[in-house]
Amino acid sequence: MRIDILTLFPDAISCGIDYSIIKRAREAGILSVFVHNIRDWTEDKHRTTDEAPYGGGAGMVMKPEPIFKAAEHVKTEYWTNESRVVLMSPQGELFTQKKAEELSLCPHLVFICGHYEGVDERVREHLVTDEISIGDYVLTGGELPSLVVLDSVSRLIPGVLGAEASALEESFAEGLLEYPQYTRPADFRGWRVPDILLSGHHAEIAKWRRTQSLLRTLKRRPDMLSTAALTEKDLKILEHLKESE
Ligand code: SAM
Repeated sequence: MRIDILTLFPDAISCGIDYSIIKRAREAGILSVFVHNIRDWTEDKHRTTDEAPYGGGAGMVMKPEPIFKAAEHVKTEYWTNESRVVLMSPQGELFTQKKAEELSLCPHLVFICGHYEGVDERVREHLVTDEISIGDYVLTGGELPSLVVLDSVSRLIPGVLGAEASALEESFAEGLLEYPQYTRPADFRGWRVPDILLSGHHAEIAKWRRTQSLLRTLKRRPDMLSTAALTEKDLKILEHLKESE
């Protein structure tokens, strides 16, 4: 996968892609990330990227020309029919694991990071294919949101995570929250790991984990249960869990 990031603050991106799993994926050639400074596509001597809003009001708005030119430059370097141009915006579609899965199938993503009061509306209307919000709150810029999306999408690309199975079993992958995880020591300050996990009975462990997953989702995110892929057995366990609450 190739990801191009258009930003006014390239340094804010570097720190998020130069360590751990994402760094290794880049080094292995599974993922390429190119960061473009929008300011490089200005033409005036002050390298202006923002102006006051038409109609008045507080703050500055990012001008359309440098953003379009930066995107057009990316298109000359690399483009496919499946390329997507994603605007980071608190007004966008709320980012979910489902959206991460959808984007992980695209060979090429271009992220536009807004700043100040945001971007000129013509960017949204004529350049962007997707508009994503990482939550109902407002950040100062699109750099952190683009790293959030990059990180969650990248780890779904085959080969990025060491153990492929780990992404499949995580929270949201099957519409449920993940079961509790423990590691050594078995007894830490008198708090013991559940005996079943030390038993070596794989089928019983799988059953315990599924029940814990259902219980955790029921307690913390009951809204997820209406869309989760539940079996007859799951529904019975849930009934039982609700009765014993
Ligand atoms: N004036 C805009 C509004 O009210 O919708 C908010 C602009 S915000 C201060 C500046 C930039 O940060 C946005 O253009 C966007 O790129 C990014 N941003 C802020 N909050 C975000 C969020 N929750 N999700 C994604 N991007 C966000």
